[in-house]
Amino acid sequence: MQRSLTVLALVCVSLAFAAAAQGPPAALNWYRGNLHTHTINSDGDSSPWDVMAWYKRNGYQFLAITDHNTFTDPAHFDSNPNDNFLLLGAEEVTNEKTVHVNAIGISQAIPAQRGSTVTELLQASIDAIRAQGAVALINHPNFRWAFTASEMLPLKGPVLLEIASGHPTVNHSGDGLVPATEQMWDQLLSAGIRVFAVAVDDAHNFRQEFILDRANPGRAWVVVRAPSLTREHIVAALNTGQFYASSGVELKSIVATSTMMSVEIETASPVQSAKHYRVVFIGKNGHELATSRDNPARYTFNGNEGYVRARIEDSGGLRAWTQPVPVGHER
Ligand SMILES: [Zn+2]
Ligand SMILES: [Zn+2]
Repeated sequence: MQRSLTVLALVCVSLAFAAAAQGPPAALNWYRGNLHTHTINSDGDSSPWDVMAWYKRNGYQFLAITDHNTFTDPAHFDSNPNDNFLLLGAEEVTNEKTVHVNAIGISQAIPAQRGSTVTELLQASIDAIRAQGAVALINHPNFRWAFTASEMLPLKGPVLLEIASGHPTVNHSGDGLVPATEQMWDQLLSAGIRVFAVAVDDAHNFRQEFILDRANPGRAWVVVRAPSLTREHIVAALNTGQFYASSGVELKSIVATSTMMSVEIETASPVQSAKHYRVVFIGKNGHELATSRDNPARYTFNGNEGYVRARIEDSGGLRAWTQPVPVGHER
């Protein structure tokens, strides 16, 4: 009984992914966006207008301005509905214990939450965000080494988890003892928690020369598959994992059926074609199932993986991450 339910869930997810990746008749589009940015309304160095203009100029279609406990209302900044650029109502809910949760797609301010533990602060933030029909994004667990997977395991409600960032001091790679946030993601997925991974800029610095120890923009983002560029469609796509995260690698398609996953990498530009690529398919407990140098890269499910996701690596150190699809019997 349990097995048949799991298989049914897989087929539903697979059809959604296949439709998303294959285009018509759904006529879905890819939209590039950044879900974590600061302005002079908290600790950034530029106005919301200047920040929005930077992202518009640099090939993004949507943006969340996430100032600390300060709501940015798109109605004040994004008045042109025809410019192929969407500002989402957003804020970084900034709690004690360095528990920071981005609220993506909100329409009203959310105050810092109360709680005596990291888990309580995370759950209260997630609940307040979801009460507005918005998406909760758990930011940088390793910033000031604030928390690990054990504090996230009791959480309820689908969420996003930041696993890559342009910010220089958020420690996403871990320290060898504290896990990388990508490993924490596998710990949560392996426990059956529905969580999708994002890459963000966490940009603060737009004015001075861009250098690696400043939080400059343009370093990490998400690419969302949606029917059109509206708040409703972007929020729904984020909530259902219809996107990939990137620190520079661009994908052409992601297809998952009931039997396989395939990933096609964009290699058209001179910089892209000068690199080598490999795709690592990853299953439960972070187990590396297979590595492919083919493009498209394809992995056939054996039915025991628990879930399958892909990490795409280029020879310059840039990466992309697809979202997991459930496979087989959940243990
Ligand atoms: Zn933060
Ligand atoms: Zn931030």
